[in-house]
Amino acid sequence: MNDAIITTPQPRELIRRMKDYHPPLGDRSGVRLDFNENTFACSPKVLETLGRISRAELTMYPERERVERIAAAHLGLAPDQLLLTNGVDEAIHVLCQTYLGPGDAMLLPVPTYSMYAVYASGTDATLVEVQAGEGFRFPLDALLAKITPATKLIAIANPNSPTGQAVRREEILRVLDAAPHAAVLVDEAYFHFHGQTAMDLVGRIPNLIVARTFSKAYGLAGLRLGLLAAAPKQMQWLRRVISPYSVNSLALACLPAALEDQTYIDWYVSEVLEARGELTAALDRLGVRYWPSQANFVLTSIGPKHAEFSRAMRERGVLVRDRSSDPGCDGCVRITIGTREHTAQGIRAMERALKEIGWTGDTK
Ligand code: PMP
Repeated sequence: MNDAIITTPQPRELIRRMKDYHPPLGDRSGVRLDFNENTFACSPKVLETLGRISRAELTMYPERERVERIAAAHLGLAPDQLLLTNGVDEAIHVLCQTYLGPGDAMLLPVPTYSMYAVYASGTDATLVEVQAGEGFRFPLDALLAKITPATKLIAIANPNSPTGQAVRREEILRVLDAAPHAAVLVDEAYFHFHGQTAMDLVGRIPNLIVARTFSKAYGLAGLRLGLLAAAPKQMQWLRRVISPYSVNSLALACLPAALEDQTYIDWYVSEVLEARGELTAALDRLGVRYWPSQANFVLTSIGPKHAEFSRAMRERGVLVRDRSSDPGCDGCVRITIGTREHTAQGIRAMERALKEIGWTGDTK
């Protein structure tokens, strides 16, 4: 027998080449300013619903259709324009599986949310990254210049992570117009903290796909709930790819309650917007450079001591996210904005952590 014969199962070549992606979870006790979650809680109405889950609901396979109709009505969409997903992460995976094949390309302005590149790397398509402009401005012209007939998927996070920058509606329209043969994902995971949306264009523009998540403002990251909105023609392909049961019964039971409690969302968003002002005022006072954010986090420039800073914050019970290895983000740390109380704790920890690393001011 030939010694070179491989005797254990081997993944596809592409999977072998994929990089591992391990978000820094583990022990997350303390004030969680690291994952852009709601730092407080979901609506109490959702918790009440969870307490009333019946045996039947757990015994049966989940049926998403009724809840999809409710979510569609909430967003002013027709039921065939909306697909619930197991978080936006599953939505991204489904989009990559649906649109990206050999010889195709995905266009991605960077820096941005990691999972676009992760899921694209599991396909046969090429990933074409376009670096953001000065101050992480959306690289519209550079992006337009990279569109070719091979471009099949373009992902735009609006507002973007980790930068917090928003993309103007006219810029999104330009991309949609320049690539009618490509699916253009506008990922509105942080919509509630920004307030501007492309949702009203769904159905009117055939290549637009909008994503929303319930992991941020709604405080339901653990339930894994997101959605895609697009023209019915595209939905037909996406439904073919997605598992019919990927949104579980608990998530389906909770969604109507979450959507109904607008008062709760309004309260949480107003807390975050107040706290955003308080955090940026503190950063100004401490001489820490940051990029103005339209989301529930702020990207700060700490400089060469970014890792020490993140560690010093952790030692004071506050988790933040080192983003220094993102493209163009050398020395950067992202700080989630939570309730005013949690943000105040973050600011107090930051004052001490900066002192500990010998902070002398702006890294410019
Ligand atoms: N899109 C963006 C831009 C994000 O930052 C995140 C989460 N960090 C997601 C999507 C993932 O959302 P979900 O929890 O719904 O998978």
